[in-house]
Amino acid sequence: MSRTRNAVWFGILLLTAPLCPAHAAESVAADTAWPLYGGTFSEERFSPLTRINKENVGQLGLAWSFNDFVVRGRTHRGNEASAIVVAGVMYFSGPWSVVYAVDAKTGKLLWKYDPGVDGQWARRTCCDVVNRGVAVWKGLVYVASVDGFLIALDASTGREKWRADTFVDRVSMNYASTGAPRIAGHNVVIGNGGAEMGARGYVSAYDLQSGRLAWRFFTVPGDPAKGPDESPDITLARKTWSTQSRWDLGGGGTAWDSMVYDPTLNLLYIGVGNGCPHPGWIRSPGGGDNLFLASIVAVEADTGRMKWYYQTTPGDSWDYTATQNIVLADLNLEGGIRKVLMQAPKNGFFYVLDRVTGKLISAEKYTTVTWADSVDPQSGRPRIASQADYSQTRKVIWPSQAGGHGWMPMSYSLQTHLVYIPVMETPMVFGSVPAAGVKFRSGANNEGDQVAFVVGPVDPALLRGQPQPVMQNRLEAWDPVSQKVAWSSKPMPIWSGGALSTAGGLVFQGSSDGAFVAYDAASGEVLKRIETGTAIMAGPISYEIDGTQYVAVLANFGGAMTAIGYLPGTAPAKYQNNERLLVFRVGGAAVPLPPVRTALTRFPLPAAISNDAEVLKRGEEVFERCAACHGFRGRLNGYPDLWNLPPEAHQNFEAIVLKGAYQYAGMPSFDDVLSAQDVRAVHAFIVADSIQLRKEDHR
Ligand code: CA
Repeated sequence: MSRTRNAVWFGILLLTAPLCPAHAAESVAADTAWPLYGGTFSEERFSPLTRINKENVGQLGLAWSFNDFVVRGRTHRGNEASAIVVAGVMYFSGPWSVVYAVDAKTGKLLWKYDPGVDGQWARRTCCDVVNRGVAVWKGLVYVASVDGFLIALDASTGREKWRADTFVDRVSMNYASTGAPRIAGHNVVIGNGGAEMGARGYVSAYDLQSGRLAWRFFTVPGDPAKGPDESPDITLARKTWSTQSRWDLGGGGTAWDSMVYDPTLNLLYIGVGNGCPHPGWIRSPGGGDNLFLASIVAVEADTGRMKWYYQTTPGDSWDYTATQNIVLADLNLEGGIRKVLMQAPKNGFFYVLDRVTGKLISAEKYTTVTWADSVDPQSGRPRIASQADYSQTRKVIWPSQAGGHGWMPMSYSLQTHLVYIPVMETPMVFGSVPAAGVKFRSGANNEGDQVAFVVGPVDPALLRGQPQPVMQNRLEAWDPVSQKVAWSSKPMPIWSGGALSTAGGLVFQGSSDGAFVAYDAASGEVLKRIETGTAIMAGPISYEIDGTQYVAVLANFGGAMTAIGYLPGTAPAKYQNNERLLVFRVGGAAVPLPPVRTALTRFPLPAAISNDAEVLKRGEEVFERCAACHGFRGRLNGYPDLWNLPPEAHQNFEAIVLKGAYQYAGMPSFDDVLSAQDVRAVHAFIVADSIQLRKEDHR
């Protein structure tokens, strides 16, 4: 099945002097700020503020907005960050890991820091050059640039204090950093992404002040030919990998998002990602659990030595990362108060673990799940269904590689004791590829599978009794004690945003159709709906200055979904897709809508470059690399439409693709993997198909 041309399925490869801990907890207890990622060390994403509440949220409106994101003429990209507010200043990051500091009361820009990432790095990310946030601690702002540097900035000036190279390999591997650094004891920790591209996952810890490397925890074993295991933890993990494992593809297990620190236990909880390649039978022939893929791992914050692990998806073959946001809580369970951690990873089960021991307390399905029937409470292992095995034939499996829950953070209310999960409801058709055909490619996806979202009625034979698919999001209020749904919102388009709960009895969530909605946290009733015209993916935050409570959210579509284009009903299908920071208060103004997308200029097409069938076939193969960003036949997305290029782009086609003529804007050079002949072939394919398309459309 061609990934680029099928009408019924269309798919993408998803992407796929030490500080005393007790003192650390005290010094961030300011109730009116939002000093840490996720609000507090526990990352509940709950605000104790009550000035915005059920009675007055109906008058919520725009206090101010910030729109000045773009640096160096680059194309618009996705906003995924949660902001931080300390002492009246808001710090946040945008695309290309640029950091902004603004007056949190007025939105006035105080400083902007551009780490100067080369446009070439757009090729090394599975899922856009996004950034999910900064850490702020004792006068320093920490950001991880997409090209792998952990950078400490002076919080008052934005000047660089130190930078550390976090990548163990800059040449053959495909690492990229999009996550928010976390404060853990006297270290700042950061992981990276790359498991779709061919990378070996790890987390690094650096001294907060000096930037010196304190420790590094690898999440999967490395190629034994390249040296001994880095730690006894890796030796333990190696026992669960076949000796025939595809070490050349890195193994995966990148920790690209959630890491949460418990100052009392001095433990760091790391959410670990999927394997590379995706199918376990190609990655580790002969089987094995493949630790620590798709696991939550607790490590000592001072040493990086493992305390315990819990694997959510043993032998993962479905891109079921356990990188989704982890929340720490003290739950009143049978037998008393338990220190737990909670996660709703991609695999569709909501996990409650004892965070002292790592023991499973409960795991129940929060969305449609067909890869496993249940989780055995004794062994903690899933009972994997036969439907999950796609090694021989294609299978429709719930959830998709996008997961039942993505990186969009869930929120735990300390008032209602419910968890608010941005749930995704979408299956995927999974197919394997011949193992011999899986070869490491630099700067490209290396997943080893063929997948597609299911967007139309499906052949019942392929469904095997599973329901006909829907593709939508909903906000689900989940009781983590009874492990049941308390309420569920109306459906919304897929790739909708993170959640925030408040002591005002509210839950806030933005969605990809551009709405920003306040729900009654107890009942799910919609109390306020604001149309912003900009897709919202990021998690909102809340803070108070001079007696006024604010709710802030970053907006703009992008990330993993950009490759499939703007789905009908999403904001960027109608409005210009520009980055924004929107800040709301009671009595605020209406949100100005972005300009409507106007009909694009129809550029003249050049004459056919070649009509040779061999050349056009090669061109279509080469286009697969382009399709990670540029939609087939100009499918509406944030990147230039190759089926409607201006004349100068046709004239300079080779210079753009091979020489990096538009690298400043984020279009990388491909001269390491494509020849001039390849470029001519893909150009010929695009022009030939453009001529054909215009004939078909009579346009
Ligand atoms: Ca993945």
